[in-house]
Amino acid sequence: MEIIHTPAAMTAWSRAERAGGRSLALVPTMGCLHAGHLSLMATARRRADLLVVSIFVNPAQFGPDEDLASYPRIFEADCQAAEEAGVDVIFAPETAAVYPPGFQTMVRVKELSQGLCGASRPGHFDGVATVVAKLFNIVQPQLAVFGEKDFQQLTVVRAMVRDLNFAVEIVGHPIVREEDGLAMSSRNRYLSPAERQTALCLYRALESARRQAVEGERDCGRIIARLSAAVAVEPGTQVEYLKIVNYSDLRELEKLTDSALLMMAVRVGKTRLIDNGYLLERPS
Ligand code: AMP
Repeated sequence: MEIIHTPAAMTAWSRAERAGGRSLALVPTMGCLHAGHLSLMATARRRADLLVVSIFVNPAQFGPDEDLASYPRIFEADCQAAEEAGVDVIFAPETAAVYPPGFQTMVRVKELSQGLCGASRPGHFDGVATVVAKLFNIVQPQLAVFGEKDFQQLTVVRAMVRDLNFAVEIVGHPIVREEDGLAMSSRNRYLSPAERQTALCLYRALESARRQAVEGERDCGRIIARLSAAVAVEPGTQVEYLKIVNYSDLRELEKLTDSALLMMAVRVGKTRLIDNGYLLERPS
């Protein structure tokens, strides 16, 4: 496995491989790799000849009061995990190489970036879209895999690729969960043992919403009210949003349809957790 630090060297490697007729897949990450990331890599590995994983904690997607400085960074362990997963190249650029002095261009996917996580994290998805556009230009993959864990991010990236004619196939990957249902996340390591238990309230909310949907409840307001009440009684929780949306355009639904997706962001102590899930059907 090669470790490449500069955009120029990364592009040179990709050009040479593509000229040799090999296809490239990219899995963008911020490192601190867990089984969720590894599952994305396995999917990418199956669909291309070569696999590039980027590790870059992107300052442009963090707000001023967010956890950029404390975001967990375990580069050596990540490299070992990536090597075992059959990754061909780790692309780990310095911040100054990605955002050199004079940098002033941002990509904005207007409407999809506004609500849900975008409401409490202004500018977050501009940072995401910009860095993903840059990674696509630097790495030039034919295919990129993103997790449904960050469903709004996946939707924003799909829209950007469509709107700006990137020649990259975007593959969404289902959420990978711990055995007890907690969605895997690099931020789970912030949780104390007690908070780790409390954090299960997100998965329980998803299960409850699914049960209500299967039992015939179609009023999204009533489902949300029940879920909010159940989460609110958990110690140290604060609901940022709990919404049922249409999975194709993320518009809020009043009546449950087959394309309903529950989206959640909940603070457990100081840690902000997100989760989501289809309520009636997974799109094929
Ligand atoms: P991150 O390192 O958190 O930026 O995540 C990198 C990629 O891994 C993103 O496409 C995430 O959606 C995806 N990802 C993170 N956690 C999970 C998970 N538990 N299941 C599926 N995908 C995930």
